[in-house]
This record gives sequence, C-alpha cells and structure tokens, in this order.
Amino acid sequence: VKERGKSGYRWYAENMDAQAVEHARMGAELQRALVRGELFPLYQPVVTLPDGDVHGVETLVRWRHPERGMISPAEFIPVAERNGMIVQIGAWVLRQACLQMVEWQRLYGTAAPMRVAVNVSARQLLEPSFAQTVADVLAETGLHPGDLLVEITETAVFDGGPALETVQALQALGVAIALDDFGTGHSSLGLLRTCPVDILKVDKLFVDGVAGTAEEAAIATSIAQIAQALRLGAVAEGVETPAQARRLYQLGYRLAQGFLFARPLPPEEVGVLLAARAAG
Ligand code: C2E
Ligand code: CA
Ligand code: CA
Ligand code: CA
Repeated sequence: VKERGKSGYRWYAENMDAQAVEHARMGAELQRALVRGELFPLYQPVVTLPDGDVHGVETLVRWRHPERGMISPAEFIPVAERNGMIVQIGAWVLRQACLQMVEWQRLYGTAAPMRVAVNVSARQLLEPSFAQTVADVLAETGLHPGDLLVEITETAVFDGGPALETVQALQALGVAIALDDFGTGHSSLGLLRTCPVDILKVDKLFVDGVAGTAEEAAIATSIAQIAQALRLGAVAEGVETPAQARRLYQLGYRLAQGFLFARPLPPEEVGVLLAARAAG
C-alpha cells in the first residue's frame, strides 16, 4: 500500500509539473496572442421566448493559436486569471464588444441587439481601476451604459469587499449586472440582498433536465420564481432542445440562450440575423 501510495504521488507530481510547464508556456504565449491578433470575439445571441427573436448577445472570446489551433476559453481564461493577463485581455474584449455594438446600432438601428454582455473575472473586479476602465471605454466608443451587461460570478463577490464595491460602481455608471452560472455557487440567495443584480443567468446544469420530471425541473422552477418575486430578468443558458424551450416558457422564462437558437457566431453572421430583423 505504501509503495503504491508513493508511486501514485510521483505520478501526480510529474503530472503537476507537466501541467505547470504547460500553463507557464501558455501564459507567456498569451502575452503575444493579444498583440499578434490571435484572440477574437464571438457573439452568441440571447433570444426572447417563445419567438426566438434576437434580444441581446454575449461576447465569448476565442484564441486561434498559430500551431495548436483553436484553444477554448475554458482552458486559457483560468491561465490568464492566474498570471494577471486577464486584466488586459478583459479590457480588450470589453472594448471590442462596445465597438461592435455601436457598429450594429449604426447599421441596424432599432433592429440591433438590446444589449451586449461581457464576461468579467473576479480578478478584474479586484482591480481598483476597473470601473474607470469601463467608464473610459463607454465614453470612447459612445456606447450607452445601459446597453452593456457585465456578467459576474457569485464566487467573485460572495465575500463582499473590493469586488462588490466595483460592482456597485458599475451599477452607478448605469451598466446592467448579470449573475452568471446562477445556482452553482454557495451563496446565491444571500448575495441577492447585497449585490446589485439585474439578471440571473441560470446555469446549463439546471436547464439540462428542465423538460423531465418535476424534480429534474425543480431548481429552474425555483429560480424563475425568485426572479419574478425580486423583479429580476432571468436567462436560461445552454438550451439545446425545443422541449426545454417550451418548458422554460411555461415556467415563466422569457429569455434563453443555447445551441437550439444559435451558437457563438462571428460578427458578420450576427449581422445577417440583424439585417433580416431590420427588413422584417
Ligand atoms: P459562460 O460565460 O458560462 O458561457 C457559456 C458557455 O456555454 C460558452 O462556452 C458557450 O459557448 C457555451 N454554450 C452556449 N450555449 C450552449 C449550449 O446550448 N450547449 C452547450 N453545451 N454549451 C453552450 P465558451 O465560449 O467555451 O466559454 C466558456 C467560458 O469561458 C464562459 O462560460 C466564461 O466563463 C469564459 N469566458 C469566455 N469568454 C470570456 C471572456 O471574454 N472573459 C472572461 N473572463 N471569461 C470568458
Ligand atoms: Ca457568461
Ligand atoms: Ca454561464
Ligand atoms: Ca459557465
């Protein structure tokens, strides 16, 4: 048993080394990725139920690595959070999203999305200058603050402190706030008392089973009731089937996002949807 434990530890340690080396390499490469234009944003439509009309878009960053191909944000965002690059990357994504939104408003007028959402990491909220960065980008691009939705996670703000102060400063600017992956943290309900929130984004975890039994739909059902009672918007994430969309609508959801409606798209493809909207 002792020996197995030992070799188990060595296996673990070697893999930790390999992973640490890989992360260090990726972190260094991320520094150049921004400069070399390897990062780019996609935009996933958020639609209204039951008609599936475009309501807003969420900005989701991608990395096209010259040798390794596409790298998922699930892989490189945590690395960027650890080495601090997320501050620069996040500011860049924010600026791209605001520029894009202003462009859509210029091209499509009232057929443009109502809002552009941007994901913001805890690390960014902890930067004392973050709210000022947002104010500067809005002023520079000319985007109306209410057209921007900042998506934060519960874990970023659950213990209050400077991150919560940043969120309050963002709300004072007129920016809308969404709690992302709602229900997956450990303080969801208590947080609604302290943190200014406009929208709950219901995690895919709770949407997956929503077309099933009452038990499987219980969490999504409860979140819809909480949102209604507190007069918050609710977006169901990761909707993949018509049965889920129907059930979500019955439960009171009026906003949804998922592959059923649209994948994250390059801006030109969102433009095609908006042109059709403007024409119809
Ligand atoms: P998230 O904010 O929860 O974004 C939703 C994720 O679910 C996206 O993955 C999206 O492509 C995916 N998704 C949407 N609809 C469906 C569906 O119907 N089925 C399935 N299976 N998946 C769906 P993505 O683009 O890979 O992003 C992963 C995570 O990376 C995001 O999760 C977010 O936490 C983070 N991320 C992405 N872009 C940024 C960014 O610019 N800044 C920060 N800080 N984080 C980002
Ligand atoms: Ca999000
Ligand atoms: Ca989410
Ligand atoms: Ca997520």
